[in-house]
Amino acid sequence: MSAATSLRCSDCASTHPLDYLLACPDCGGLLFVEYDLDRIARMPFGSLAGPGIWPYAELLPIPDPAHQVTLGEGSTPLIAVPRLAAAMGLDNLWLKFDGLNPTGTVKDRSAVTAVAAARQFGFDRIGVVSTGNAATAIAAYAARADIRALVLSSATSSRPKVSHVNALTADFMMYRGNYDDLIGAFDRAIDSRVVFDGGASRNPYKQDGKKTLAYEVFEQLGLQAPDYVVYPVGMGELLLASQRGFRELHAAGHADSVPVPVAAQSSIADTIVKALNEGGPRVSISIDYTIAEGVAVGDMGAKGDWVLRDLRDAGGLGAAASDDEVVEWQNRLARLEGIWAGPTGCITLPVLAALVAQGKIARDARVVCTVSETGLKSDLEPPDIPIIEANEAAILDFLQS
Ligand SMILES: [Zn+2]
Repeated sequence: MSAATSLRCSDCASTHPLDYLLACPDCGGLLFVEYDLDRIARMPFGSLAGPGIWPYAELLPIPDPAHQVTLGEGSTPLIAVPRLAAAMGLDNLWLKFDGLNPTGTVKDRSAVTAVAAARQFGFDRIGVVSTGNAATAIAAYAARADIRALVLSSATSSRPKVSHVNALTADFMMYRGNYDDLIGAFDRAIDSRVVFDGGASRNPYKQDGKKTLAYEVFEQLGLQAPDYVVYPVGMGELLLASQRGFRELHAAGHADSVPVPVAAQSSIADTIVKALNEGGPRVSISIDYTIAEGVAVGDMGAKGDWVLRDLRDAGGLGAAASDDEVVEWQNRLARLEGIWAGPTGCITLPVLAALVAQGKIARDARVVCTVSETGLKSDLEPPDIPIIEANEAAILDFLQS
């Protein structure tokens, strides 16, 4: 059922059995799951996509179907967006709109494998610290699997996210301060094995759910990889996992190429982009609030170094966007294409536009931009628009304008 063979260290390359390990026993490095390429080579790509991510079970580290959990996640549309492309100066642009997942974000893909892995390793409790979206996703799939979700979510999370988590789990607390301050304490608690790790720092089983985005894009483009894929980068899970998915497809002989990864960060949390573009090491920073809550990470820890290495090895690109730029492109996306995405999901758009304007991505490149979050979870001020008295003349006047 699963082609997973071992865990491999991202630092020292040593291999380890498929146990519940969050760090390399030899050097402490982060681990990822390795798969049998011969088995991947025999998979019938072209007829695997949807419904849900489990048609790709062979490429996920959950061998026993009894441990699977699903709410119909994945199978999200790859939408050609010609008007948005023209506004950016591109000829070929698609959006992978993961806001259409059951909890409204790409986090569903990894919450599924996190909760399935918790079952696999005999846990009946899963914990997560989140700025909002991961909390919702972990709590949803834990509820579905009938295991307890212990959730810490930021007190600055949007009201829709807070209400959503509160409905999903009774074990819910909010925290003040930023994600970075709490994540170290959370990881130490995880090491005592009181709960299964639903966090984004280390768990290789959780991360692999996000590989499915690459497989879907590959199938939706007619068994071709795009030239570039743009990812929002908070902890970097999506970029690491999806790019590994594309590399597996290439190594197994399905895809002719691997897309160049593009990292999109907030200008208040731009540690990867800064290191990539200036050539130095990644330097952690203390950050302020950004409306793009999902990328509000100033200290990515060891995972940040891994993301930076992946980007450099692949000749990757990166840029950062301000909150104002995110809002501008969020509204342009709505008006031009009818797609309502949240700020974290939209941060890829101003970043892509900037890289095209700088000549770093050519007009004829085939670009997939991940839009990772629905706009329906955002907490927005009521817009400042005119209010009219409800009389026939005024209504007719408006309709004729
Ligand atoms: Zn190691």
